[in-house]
Amino acid sequence: MALEFLLEHLGLDVSTLWVTVFAGDPELCILPDEAAIEEWVRVGMPRERIVPLGVEDNLWEMGGGVGPCGPCSEIFVDRGPAFGCGSPTCRPGCSCDRYLEIWNLVFMEFERLTNGALVSLPRRNVDTGMGLERVASVLQGAESSFSIDLFLSASERLTALQGEESRRWNDGRDGLFSITCERFCWQVSQVLSLDAMGAAL
Ligand SMILES: [Zn+2]
Repeated sequence: MALEFLLEHLGLDVSTLWVTVFAGDPELCILPDEAAIEEWVRVGMPRERIVPLGVEDNLWEMGGGVGPCGPCSEIFVDRGPAFGCGSPTCRPGCSCDRYLEIWNLVFMEFERLTNGALVSLPRRNVDTGMGLERVASVLQGAESSFSIDLFLSASERLTALQGEESRRWNDGRDGLFSITCERFCWQVSQVLSLDAMGAAL
């Protein structure tokens, strides 16, 4: 469903997509997620673009570690060598900006207890979600999530308020300027959501 939406409804090119799966972990007694690999191959993802990653990347857990958790599979867009580190081993999981995660599918199979043990959940589910701003940045060819049309007017206004010099100093992926834009637009979206909810009621 995730792949179908990206390809058939958003028009992304499958040749730009990569996926990750959980590589398994001997300490946790969890095997590599062969079922996810098989499914990705079945829906047309080339085997060489399916990347197994470990606990840090592909075992999703609640903040604080206790509660439902499970292996996950993420979809990445290859933004091209211009965003990359140039390493021959660069691929999803690399710390550079070439591969952008846009979707996560979490297979909720376990519960992490307070003593750290994992027990199987009586009922399993798939918790899935797409990064709206990230997908927008891909569709719009924007340099980052903070350069999409949603943030443009806020960005221009903040630039005017802060001054160009200040903006340059703060700019960057995790810069204060970008965070301010994001928080501002998030607040606006919350107000709009409340308005929409009020209208629906
Ligand atoms: Zn890289």
